[in-house]
Amino acid sequence: MDFNNFCDREQEKELIIMTENERERWVVTSAWPYVNAIPHLGNLIGSVLSADVFARFLRLRGDEVVFVSGSDAHGTPVAVAARRNNISAEELAMKNHGIIKNLFKKWDISYDNYTHTHNPTHINFTQDFYLDVQKNGYVSEKEIETLYCKHDNLYLPDRFVEGECPHCKDEKARGDQCDNCQKLLTPLELINPKCAICGNTPEIKTTKHWYMDFPKLQHKLKELIENNKIIPQNARTMCLNSIKEGIPERAITRDLEWGIPAPFESAENKSIYVWFEAVLGYVSAVKEWAEKIKKEPKKFDYFWKDKDTKTVYFIGKDNIIFHLIVFPGLLMAYNEDKSQDQKLVLPYNVSSTEFLMYENDKFSKSRGVGIWIDDALKLAPLDYWRFNLVYNRPE
Ligand SMILES: [Zn+2]
Ligand SMILES: [Zn+2]
Repeated sequence: MDFNNFCDREQEKELIIMTENERERWVVTSAWPYVNAIPHLGNLIGSVLSADVFARFLRLRGDEVVFVSGSDAHGTPVAVAARRNNISAEELAMKNHGIIKNLFKKWDISYDNYTHTHNPTHINFTQDFYLDVQKNGYVSEKEIETLYCKHDNLYLPDRFVEGECPHCKDEKARGDQCDNCQKLLTPLELINPKCAICGNTPEIKTTKHWYMDFPKLQHKLKELIENNKIIPQNARTMCLNSIKEGIPERAITRDLEWGIPAPFESAENKSIYVWFEAVLGYVSAVKEWAEKIKKEPKKFDYFWKDKDTKTVYFIGKDNIIFHLIVFPGLLMAYNEDKSQDQKLVLPYNVSSTEFLMYENDKFSKSRGVGIWIDDALKLAPLDYWRFNLVYNRPE
């Protein structure tokens, strides 16, 4: 089966003719899985399968839909896994991307483009994007203290460091986020930090990073959330609370070899923080689809730069803040000097799920709890899983 032309085009055309006047334009997306492990059923229902069902529904209705996602190839989860397995990060990422892409095909997920973040379209788009954000006055440089492992000769960003959460005291918190209380963290906030590679206690070292000025966007983001009447109530409350606490500046760069090189002047040896580039994959995946799969480059502007396009994000609840505050903030900063027909459209809606439970523990890829999507298909037929997962969707 041709993955990119999965749905029945003839039937779709008939429906389009019937409903041409009300036809809407949609970008449907599902969260990008890290390539450090095979997705589990919780990842599948939370984003991939729900998005697939929705995209199929829209196509049946006759709407114009582009449905994209991809593998999150960069960042510390992949770099840590590669180091532990003694292979290069690129080798690990490309191997696992192939496996995941093939599994989504087996699950009949009707992506128009399932790509990855280590492709040239994404890398170029991301670098140009951040140069524009900098030109528009949203990037500043700062010297900061960070953790460094002498034993591994390595700075320890994000998941290269583990320790106790300063908020909920969970002992399995990581340098970027606590899975238990969902709070975003920085490595220095962890109590009793340990290097994730060798387990030694790191030392503190000074380094320079480039920061995104979110405080400057605070009011605009508050307006965006307040004026959006359709986002789910739980997401609205979470976002407004977070805005009330104050949105801090966030470092765009990392001292990490595996990633997209930061495009800023004198930022040699820095890469862009994986979250800040993978989220742009929603945009670049449509660009790549238009240019390389459809071979109609104008389709990119047609979807992403039309103010009436509806973009929807199917995500786990731990990603709400990132999709409704961080991502729109980046888009606003990029859009600032653009004419109306060149602005990227802001998020229309998110659909988030609670965590799927496995017996009494939540499914977790990083902790190895749950049923994996490759094993599931050996246990029961596809339609059994597709029905049961949608039926039991944890909302
Ligand atoms: Zn916590
Ligand atoms: Zn170490």
